[in-house]
Amino acid sequence: MYFQAMPIKIYSQNCWMDGQLQPASLTLQDGKIVDISLEKAVDLNYDFGALVLMPGAIDAHVHINEPGRTDWEGFHTATRAAAKGGTTTLVDMPLNSSPVTIHRAAFEAKVEAAQGQLHSNCGLWAGAINADTESLRETLDAGCLGVKVFLTHSGIEEFPNISLADLDLIMPLIKSYDVPLLVHCELDDGWRSKTFEDAPTSYSAYLTSRPKSWENKAIEALIALCRKHDTRTHIVHLASAEALGMIEAARAEGLPLSVETCPHYIFFHAEAIPDADTTYKCAPPIREKANNDLLIQAIQSGTIDLLATDHSPAPPDLKAIESGNLQKAWGGIASVQFLLSASWTALKNHLDIEQFIPLITENPATFTGLSDRKGQLKVGYDADITVWNPTEAFVVDVEMVWHRHKVTPYIGQELFGQVEATFVNGILVYHNGQMMRKNAGKIVLSC
Ligand SMILES: [Zn+2]
Repeated sequence: MYFQAMPIKIYSQNCWMDGQLQPASLTLQDGKIVDISLEKAVDLNYDFGALVLMPGAIDAHVHINEPGRTDWEGFHTATRAAAKGGTTTLVDMPLNSSPVTIHRAAFEAKVEAAQGQLHSNCGLWAGAINADTESLRETLDAGCLGVKVFLTHSGIEEFPNISLADLDLIMPLIKSYDVPLLVHCELDDGWRSKTFEDAPTSYSAYLTSRPKSWENKAIEALIALCRKHDTRTHIVHLASAEALGMIEAARAEGLPLSVETCPHYIFFHAEAIPDADTTYKCAPPIREKANNDLLIQAIQSGTIDLLATDHSPAPPDLKAIESGNLQKAWGGIASVQFLLSASWTALKNHLDIEQFIPLITENPATFTGLSDRKGQLKVGYDADITVWNPTEAFVVDVEMVWHRHKVTPYIGQELFGQVEATFVNGILVYHNGQMMRKNAGKIVLSC
């Protein structure tokens, strides 16, 4: 960890403050924003001209996989890619690391593994697979930001789904910590797609194998539990637009329910996904354009609170890249580097930039419980800052991907929103294509 002695002064004509873009000079020192002036300072270290200067993006849904599956990804590669993409804080899922983060020792192993490898900040979600409230309490006491569960099997043997009965038992404890419960909402009703069994490289067959009804049923059950316990409840990676009506009704009722979707659910559409290309495989699956247009409308209306990548990488052999077999391929889309650019590209024709920015900054800060420190440009807040050009486009190629494995459906796509500079805790970590400083990130705890 570096502590800067001298303050850094930065300026842009387009700083995102109080919901609008306006000229300001910011002084960063000792990891914090220590002064904001609406004048252009004379002794600037960096004049970013008309580039957008905003709080660093927060990606609340990332699988870093270390320790235990570091050959899939790792703190060094994930946080470096994040910094390049303008993400200054990630929150790591309790799987697919090994051990999974379901007890305090696993939490400590993860914090230990992260030492000397954090180029962006990193918080941790705890996991729950049963009603072991003692382990859950310990993990939350250690500083996890909330609790993740699956309602269908995760694919990781040691992280099976929790039963609804056990979820019912642990929700009061989660409420007592005032942290969110994050839920993978698919309820596997045992139905199996014969079409998919017969055609394992067909994307449309894969899509039918994980129907919207699985998501809808899970969300219906979850809303009932949210109503019963009044626990902060969060639907991760919503893909079924059919569930939006009940989500809107639950929120109108005042239930503490929040929702995320991922850039890939609005950037890509099933109709255009080629067969035998496993880079697109994720669960729930990327659905049809008509469905995805409704997700965009729900982002516009505020029913969907935030965007997160669900970065879930795996080595090419586990992605079954060569065979293109969607049954065998690991499900997950590697994309932590593209939260800002892919989201902005998918939404720029639907939202003003002032409406877009909170979806990846202020709103995830509120959701993760970090809104007293992160997600806004304010004096006293952490000096996590992203500077970017919303009109500059680039085509993703393999060389520019800083994930451990260059396996992502964004290869070849044109993205708008070039990141020019990223500051983490007041340190310029990324500038103009280059990593400037390492290890400026910190583990982020709940208090
Ligand atoms: Zn995930």
